[in-house]
Amino acid sequence: MFEYAPAPESRAIVDIAPDYGLFIDGEFTPAGSDGGVFKTVNPASEEVLAEVAAAGPADVDRAVAAARRAYPSWSALPGAERAKYLFRIARIIQERARELAVLESLDNGKPIRESRDVDLPLVAAHFFYYAGWADKLAYAGFGPDPRPLGVAGQVIPWNFPLLMLAWKVAPALACGNTVVLKPAETTPLSALFFADICRQAGLPPGVVNILTGAGDTGRLLVEHPDVNKVAFTGSTEVGRQIAASVAGTGKRLTLELGGKAANIVFDDAPIDQAVDGIVNGIFFNQGHVCCAGSRLLVQESIADVLLDALKRRMTTLRVGDPLDKNTDIGAINSAVQLDRIRALSDIGSREGAQRWSPPCELPDRGFWFAPTIFTGVTQAHRIAREEIFGPVLSVLTFRTPDEAIEKANNTPYGLSAGIWTEKGSRILAVADKLRAGVVWANTFNKFDPASPFGGYKESGYGREGGRHGLEAYLA
Ligand code: NAD
Repeated sequence: MFEYAPAPESRAIVDIAPDYGLFIDGEFTPAGSDGGVFKTVNPASEEVLAEVAAAGPADVDRAVAAARRAYPSWSALPGAERAKYLFRIARIIQERARELAVLESLDNGKPIRESRDVDLPLVAAHFFYYAGWADKLAYAGFGPDPRPLGVAGQVIPWNFPLLMLAWKVAPALACGNTVVLKPAETTPLSALFFADICRQAGLPPGVVNILTGAGDTGRLLVEHPDVNKVAFTGSTEVGRQIAASVAGTGKRLTLELGGKAANIVFDDAPIDQAVDGIVNGIFFNQGHVCCAGSRLLVQESIADVLLDALKRRMTTLRVGDPLDKNTDIGAINSAVQLDRIRALSDIGSREGAQRWSPPCELPDRGFWFAPTIFTGVTQAHRIAREEIFGPVLSVLTFRTPDEAIEKANNTPYGLSAGIWTEKGSRILAVADKLRAGVVWANTFNKFDPASPFGGYKESGYGREGGRHGLEAYLA
């Protein structure tokens, strides 16, 4: 393997303040007396990046009231006028892309190559895309005069902080709703920089409000009686609690939850291409991806060849400093998540699966986990059933297409799946039988704002992205 000299991206481009307040009614304000503060750290070094306000009940009231006050005039604006704000936000995001990419890598731990080349371009594309819809809602297929819902309470996770914000905020605003958004407690910074971008774009106060805080703040927001729509992305466990609390209130709800996707490789697949797709499927973003291809289903006749090629490829993955442009795998987002990954991996070994990682040196400080595969996994293993949300792949085999479909669908989740084969007819036949919201063929983890995304079964309901994504924000 080549030795690469370090190629660090400069962190000087981003100016992180020592502390941040809540963004309510167009202003940053400290949390009230029933709120608090918490620290956000760089998971690659455990260095404290900033102290951030935690919103309490009175702050949630203030933010929802601000969004309510802003709603009549925002929703009454002609769509073309709302579009101008969204286009402006999209362009500012592009202008500040390098700064935001460095910030995202610092707060989340993801490699700069991904935040720069995947997250940020998709964030801007999402705002451009929904800006285009704002004046065409009457032609979107939801009736001649679709109306916004009111105030949207939105809660997002830490794996793609700014991208999940874009998925939530862009369609909500395009449709004429106002929003109160709560980012995850381990990655609050890019949402706070987005608040600044809203000000830079001249967005009227109260249209976007950002409340930082932990799960309690999220619960207060989704349970707030003056919220009309709840949009949640996160774990199935919390999604279940939210569904129960929203039931019977008349609030509209979309849930984007966990996954345990099957990545199915048939014996006629181009092996090298499939290997790269498997690597991208499970090691992209340290495997902190709800639609990660975390279950590899490989046809038995090519299993040995494929696994040898996969192991060879894994030895070339570089784990380390997220700001180094050569890094493939960055830091695990938090100590809590690292513990979860370790615990489930240990269970995999105890239950008899064979564990393998390439030799790789991990930094002394920060939260790290080497890319790992488990072979000899069966449907009964917990690592085949439960979401690990880390760089850990479970490998199972199959003999016939029917067996592959049966195994792929044998999960409580249904977010995504992948198929690798040379035959177009097989792609269509298998995709048709997979109970998954997104099925990729001869590729994996490809996203486009025009394409809807969402789950079946315990992966949630409702769609984000595309024309379908408008439906969640229109009456
Ligand atoms: P999590 O459910 O613990 O937290 C997600 C968000 O919900 C955070 O902002 C958290 O503060 C908040 N929260 C926690 N308890 C809450 C409550 N009772 N009420 C309201 N909000 C609450 O999930 P996580 O560990 O941060 O994220 C990982 C999970 O998210 C994984 O299961 C992953 O699959 C899922 N995810 C799904 C998608 C998707 O589009 N389907 C995308 C990304 C992540």
